[in-house]
Amino acid sequence: MDVLLYSGSFLLGLVIGSFLNVVIHRVPLRQSLVRPGSHCPHCAHSIRWYDNIPVLSWLILRGRCRDCGAQIGIRYPLVEVLTAALFTLGALAAGWELRLLLLWGFFAVLVVVTFIDIDHMLILNRVVIPAGALGLAASIALVPSRWWEYLISGCGAALFLFLIALLWPGGMGLGDVKLALLLGFVLGAKVIVAMFAAFLLGGVVGISLLAGGRRSRKDKIPFGPFLALGGIIGSLVGDHILVWYVGLIGWV
Ligand SMILES: [Zn+2]
Repeated sequence: MDVLLYSGSFLLGLVIGSFLNVVIHRVPLRQSLVRPGSHCPHCAHSIRWYDNIPVLSWLILRGRCRDCGAQIGIRYPLVEVLTAALFTLGALAAGWELRLLLLWGFFAVLVVVTFIDIDHMLILNRVVIPAGALGLAASIALVPSRWWEYLISGCGAALFLFLIALLWPGGMGLGDVKLALLLGFVLGAKVIVAMFAAFLLGGVVGISLLAGGRRSRKDKIPFGPFLALGGIIGSLVGDHILVWYVGLIGWV
């Protein structure tokens, strides 16, 4: 049965990833998600259903439009494979539990937030605010007795980033603060692991970009993708890391 769950999760992730590509492209431009249907941005030809199969079509067409030969970025299949991998990891972590649906929704939002932030240096209210409200509602519905933990974790993580944004203007944005709220609402206490991972990864990548001369101090590096990655790590292995750390410092 587990093989069924994992392969099903992967296939569902591919299909959802294909839809997320549309969301990432259209939501910042305030375009409809359904109309017009998928079309080549270069020649505007509609994409035939058999050319719209996740990953496979891109490989068969070798990354080019069937009508005009314009290149289709490798990011489209990458987002599909990434979403599929995350959906499968979620299934590995949650198994046949309702919590899996929350993880899938959470991961889908994080993929969208990450790529919109990379493209536009923006975390959209239209995405994180409804996601935060839904995330809190779903967390409380799944474990009603821990409602206070989700609330405190979300508000605490958001407050922490808000203080950093006040102390170092220009580094952190209010979008990051709202994303931290979502992370805490979904992760509860594991948000500590997520924040720690985000700052660690953001620091390492930031320093290596500076050292490699690829970015100067004035360039901005979006922090949303690191928070998203932290959120993924926190939700998948946050429990293990917390237990390990508490043992390490000798609380138990
Ligand atoms: Zn075309």
